[in-house]
Amino acid sequence: MSHRITKAIRIRSDRTADREHSSPVYLTSSFAFDDAEQMRATFADENDDYIYTRFSNPTVQEFTDRLVALEGAEDGFATASGMSAIVASFLSFLKKGDHLLACNAIFGSTHTVITKFLPKYGIEYTYVDATDTSKWEAAIQPNTRMLYLESPTNPGLDIVDLAAAGKIAKKHNLIFNVDNCFATPIGQTPIDFGADLVVHSATKWIDGQGRVLGGAIVGRKDLIKEIYAFCRSTGPALSPFNAWVLSRSLETLDVRMERHSSNALYIAERLEGHEKLSWLKYPFLPSHPQYAIAKSQMKNGGGILCFELKGGLQAGREFLDKLKMLSLTANLGDTRSIASHPASTTHAKLTDEERAKVNITPGLIRILVGLEHRDDILNDILQAL
Ligand SMILES: *Cc1c(COP(=O)(O)O)cnc(C)c1O
Repeated sequence: MSHRITKAIRIRSDRTADREHSSPVYLTSSFAFDDAEQMRATFADENDDYIYTRFSNPTVQEFTDRLVALEGAEDGFATASGMSAIVASFLSFLKKGDHLLACNAIFGSTHTVITKFLPKYGIEYTYVDATDTSKWEAAIQPNTRMLYLESPTNPGLDIVDLAAAGKIAKKHNLIFNVDNCFATPIGQTPIDFGADLVVHSATKWIDGQGRVLGGAIVGRKDLIKEIYAFCRSTGPALSPFNAWVLSRSLETLDVRMERHSSNALYIAERLEGHEKLSWLKYPFLPSHPQYAIAKSQMKNGGGILCFELKGGLQAGREFLDKLKMLSLTANLGDTRSIASHPASTTHAKLTDEERAKVNITPGLIRILVGLEHRDDILNDILQAL
């Protein structure tokens, strides 16, 4: 099992006496002991046995082990959602008086956590420009503890130079934490560029079929130990049923991402230069401003492309209304293609000024390319344009 994808397919929870080929789902909230001594030893942490599903569960562990293998991590912990993973990755390490350095272009709810909730607990933050790592060191303070970013960024699809970010984090002894939801471990593995932690919303491409919520944090063993201690007591545990769905999903993630990406590249190439668009961005198009970086750190361009409609907000709404096949929904990363309009949905809570700072223009449309035939997706977009 030398390849990560093989591990992700072959790692499984222990087979029961029934010799089932697919792993069973362990829908149990707790685990029983044979005697007082086994119970004592387990609670004393002298063995690895299961106690209670808020702490650990075989189905959740199988999903975690598979994702750990795909990301090339040492250990991991799975959570109920992407946001609970992100919050746990912050609160396990940041305390009153600490400072978080984060990229300015991040998921809407993560932005809310950083700007509205962390300050309530005395944790400061500074946002830096995702596309210019040369300015980051000037923003580092004596109390800076963590560097947090997403690449490709949400929703503008800028590419952050992971190797440069990793060097800065190492030099200043910062915990380097990357949200790898957009690229997935099939598209890029931030740990290979120096990330200490990788957080995921498994709700998106990992599930890939719009069924369940889930999240995970993987990375350095010593850091995951602290995250485990935090999560064990605060309770963001992933449900075993969702873990079972997500664990099966990891078996097909590689082939799905290959098709999502090739469909997206095909569509991006054909839409680029369309008279109704002022620009279009896809990481693996040579016209992307960070194309060289994307090519150096990503294995594929991913399933997301975005463009700006001439005509702004009104044109954006008309475009959505004219689509016949693409879904209008808040999720991303599905077999079914989705169109979204960040200014009125995911980033609606930001002020116009904050949106402008992260390049969310009124006519920005994001296409989450699904697994339908590429020409059907393209033609729906073309007729709507
Ligand atoms: C959706 C998303 C999240 C949050 O995940 P949930 O599973 O919805 O909690 C975090 N980061 C990114 C990039 C996302 O797209």
